[in-house]
Amino acid sequence: MNRREFVHAAASAAVLSAATRLAAQPARLDLVIKGGRVVDPSLRLDATRDVGIAAGRIAAIEPTLAAGAAATLDARGKLVVPGLIDIHTHAGRDAAGSGMLLRDGVTGWIDAGSAGADGIDPVVAVARASQQLGRVLVNIGRSGILPDGDTKDLALADVGAARAAIERHRDYVVGIKARLSATVVGANDVEVLKRTQQVVEPLGLPVMIHMGQSPSSLRELLPMLKRGDIVTHMFAPPPNAIVDDDGRLLPEVLAARRRGIVFDVGNGVRDHIRWDIVEQVMRQGFWPDTISTDWNVMSRTTGVVDFPNCMSKLLGFGMSVADVIACATLNAARTFDVFHDRGTLNVGAPADVAVLELREGDFEFLDNYENTIKGRQRLFPSETVLAGVRVPRA
Ligand SMILES: [Zn+2]
Repeated sequence: MNRREFVHAAASAAVLSAATRLAAQPARLDLVIKGGRVVDPSLRLDATRDVGIAAGRIAAIEPTLAAGAAATLDARGKLVVPGLIDIHTHAGRDAAGSGMLLRDGVTGWIDAGSAGADGIDPVVAVARASQQLGRVLVNIGRSGILPDGDTKDLALADVGAARAAIERHRDYVVGIKARLSATVVGANDVEVLKRTQQVVEPLGLPVMIHMGQSPSSLRELLPMLKRGDIVTHMFAPPPNAIVDDDGRLLPEVLAARRRGIVFDVGNGVRDHIRWDIVEQVMRQGFWPDTISTDWNVMSRTTGVVDFPNCMSKLLGFGMSVADVIACATLNAARTFDVFHDRGTLNVGAPADVAVLELREGDFEFLDNYENTIKGRQRLFPSETVLAGVRVPRA
């Protein structure tokens, strides 16, 4: 079963009769998340429900579950959603990162290219020690992120070294990252991307490219991507945005989406998102497949803040609460096989759950160019349940 089929199977399992589910429901639940607004795009569900958990898995979702669970989490007035999956973070840089993310509701993360082949071991060690699922993309530049550019020296885009790093950590390195800004690659973007694809070709793993400010046009770069590859920083401004000088989406961008290439937000702090580009892109109905933060342990002090904040930014551009939750759960789970059974609250799935608050008020959201937009709604992290266990609020 591939990921898409899994999600379909998950959705059809949800329509099993109530009687079947009742029969399957264990006598005693370990935890009930009570009375929240359950928003789960994988189940096309947006309604007040109790979520029952037993043995680390979702055991039941019903309008009301009888009392008698070992523990209750009162979610009245809050959103109950599948645990969030952030496919572009730098959580692997710091042992403290995964715990911070967990309290933000993030129950799965990808470190997107913090390290190249030469520095991969400590990043993989952080991912191994993470309570929640943490996985790593190796940077094609074997020395990782360099102030003078990861692959300006083409010798650093070392196919053999990158492949050996993946093979050494086959269970934790789930793909490869190529940063293609001119400040990173010089004039080498096409050659670097070619080598990046060479690394994973025999392994069948995805490539994530960091777009924006590349020397070559996306007209040239996008056709080099294959189904399942990811374009992060999709709202980066020119040169070489996903829109042309008149603000129209490039035909190559639409073709890439039709071929199954994933377009990801990658909020970050510099060069990656500008409100006028977001406006142009969203107005043409080209919504992100996935929302991600480009998070690190300092993000609390920047325009990123946390994952729910980054999700809230797009509520002002026509997406509904359920739409942004889909980007952070169901869609994100489809990008890497490791998340194949996540991003859903379907009965039987691992009980990774984020409880969020949706507050109404006057909120300001930052892009990467010190421009702010105002919004009326913002999501805040509230509680996290990982494998059926409530995470302490540190
Ligand atoms: Zn990044």
